Amino acid sequence: MSVTVIDARLRPREHLAAKTELAALQERAMGRDAHGLLELALTGELQGRTAVVSSFGAESAVLLHLMAQIDPATPVLFLNTGKLFGETLRYRDRLQDTLGLGDVRSIAPSLGDRAISDPEGTLWSRDADACCHFRKTVPLAKALAPFAAQITGRKRFQTRERASMEPVEFHEGRFRFNPLWSWSQADLEAYVQTHKLPAHPLVEDGYPSIGCMPCTRRVQAGEDYRDGRWSGLDKDECGIHLGTDGEGI
Ligand code: SF4
Repeated sequence: MSVTVIDARLRPREHLAAKTELAALQERAMGRDAHGLLELALTGELQGRTAVVSSFGAESAVLLHLMAQIDPATPVLFLNTGKLFGETLRYRDRLQDTLGLGDVRSIAPSLGDRAISDPEGTLWSRDADACCHFRKTVPLAKALAPFAAQITGRKRFQTRERASMEPVEFHEGRFRFNPLWSWSQADLEAYVQTHKLPAHPLVEDGYPSIGCMPCTRRVQAGEDYRDGRWSGLDKDECGIHLGTDGEGI
């Protein structure tokens, strides 16, 4: 298992400590399945210091169900960009009840940032990266600040950028656990069926990957499942680099 490059902004002593701690976590992560990786992230020295970041999108139920078996009171950071489908908000509420999630935190861009950066609410159509920055990057960075580690639902198969991800990484000042890193789409579907998890209502309507409403379209037969995200733009990630539960929110 390779060692992820440590954040270059750390001071030398912090850099060494983070590198040592990461190597130890990666050693302990070897051979663990998703449940085992979540135990590593949620117990021991990281207990109470880890948050899940979830979009409550098409694939979110798997990670949240796994997490709830270990500690349903784990903070779940839900990024409400102000541009989400109503179905996603209702699905969040349903999953919260179904899985018994005890600490779902909805985070959003500040009113001040909205007024300055996107008073008309149309920035997505002119500069998607800038829109993602103030609606996602900034509020998520603030919400993650108190935590030493985060859990994402990212998978290697999803994008080129994710193809080389490790189960445990260090990024932007905290550990990042990717318990589903090696899962395939078939693995996810099998897990959902086995545990009878509720599906996001838009999936059967042709949306296999769900983000903000203006930047998500239905996928046609023969297209990749993420082709409906930022369609027509050379963009397949939020640009936030903080990691989400797998769908780039
Ligand atoms: S996905 Fe689209 S609407 Fe959502 S923050 Fe990014 S650019 Fe804006």
